[in-house]
Amino acid sequence: MANGEKRDYYEVLEVHRNASETEIKKAYRKLAIKFHPDKNPGNNEAEECFKEVSEAYEVLSDPQKRAQYDQFGHAGLAGGGFSGGGFGFGAGTPFGDIFGDIFGDLFGGGRQQRGRGRRGDDLLYNLEISFEEAAFGVESRIEVPYNKRCSACGGSGAKPGTEPKVCPTCRGAGQVRFQQGYFSVSRTCNHCNGEGRIIDSPCGACRGTGSVRDTKTMSVKIPAGVETGNRLKLSGEGGQGTKGGANGDLYVAITVKPHPVFNRDNNDVICEIPISFTQAALGAEIPVPTLDGKMNLKIPEGTQSGRVFRLRDKGIPVLQGYGRGDQLVVIKVETPVNLNKKQRELLEEFARIGGEEIHPMKKNFFEKVVDLFS
Ligand SMILES: [Zn+2]
Ligand SMILES: [Zn+2]
Repeated sequence: MANGEKRDYYEVLEVHRNASETEIKKAYRKLAIKFHPDKNPGNNEAEECFKEVSEAYEVLSDPQKRAQYDQFGHAGLAGGGFSGGGFGFGAGTPFGDIFGDIFGDLFGGGRQQRGRGRRGDDLLYNLEISFEEAAFGVESRIEVPYNKRCSACGGSGAKPGTEPKVCPTCRGAGQVRFQQGYFSVSRTCNHCNGEGRIIDSPCGACRGTGSVRDTKTMSVKIPAGVETGNRLKLSGEGGQGTKGGANGDLYVAITVKPHPVFNRDNNDVICEIPISFTQAALGAEIPVPTLDGKMNLKIPEGTQSGRVFRLRDKGIPVLQGYGRGDQLVVIKVETPVNLNKKQRELLEEFARIGGEEIHPMKKNFFEKVVDLFS
């Protein structure tokens, strides 16, 4: 429970990520008995452990919660509405924010837990997906380079057949105490770099580090409705721990490629569609691209540039929620260019016979500024 950070539930129950329901139950029973308040009266630490174990079991024993946890980590379980089995409507917390501040100190090498080996690195994988994949979700295969536990030495870093020995300077504590004035101060042991153990003959395969570089291919399920900046956490899928340490986590950061005609505003899809000025004036039925394919939209006569038509439920599905946004079709009236002689004559004719009343906006505007022009 270092610095109040939530520990991985699998780590809490000391089970593998693929552990069966029976294994999880067994692990829980064992730990619950060990930390039960009745057996540890007045022991706050045991009580905390008991709570932690119970919480981990509550999630991992429920297949739905477990799946959710596997995919999103603790954040996947945060917020209300989850315990009912659903996701809660519109879940007030955008995904990006949930994961936004997890980073900070995580990257840049595994956190060291003295006496418990080195935790595997947390990894960040940048995944680029299309607009449509972000809208409807996708199962993506990714290749992740990571540090794998060295198979030659089993992650100990010591040459096969030998064992790391306890550091004589700190006697395995990783810290040495010394007197400074009236105070007793402890610092990291120089001899073993705080690891508490010394490797005399390093493993040749990993040069004593306990891990080797490798690439793993895995498939990641991206939920519908994600957007750029969202991150998925895959607990325990980061670098493998060495010298007995836990695995790191893998974070998949989503970037959505721009779409040639669609833009996004929350869950609404915005699409600007140019129409001719005759279509705008006379009315028309125009084809409109949507995420679900082509639709026809009726433009009434006298439609002005900038008018917005709303196509209900044609937007992006709500992430971890119900329903979809809308599609907003923004009409842009195009002024004709490159007129030929005949077209020009007709328009000149049109301009001659057209009265003021066919352009009420223009008439209204110039009435307002007549003083400024005099
Ligand atoms: Zn090795
Ligand atoms: Zn030492």
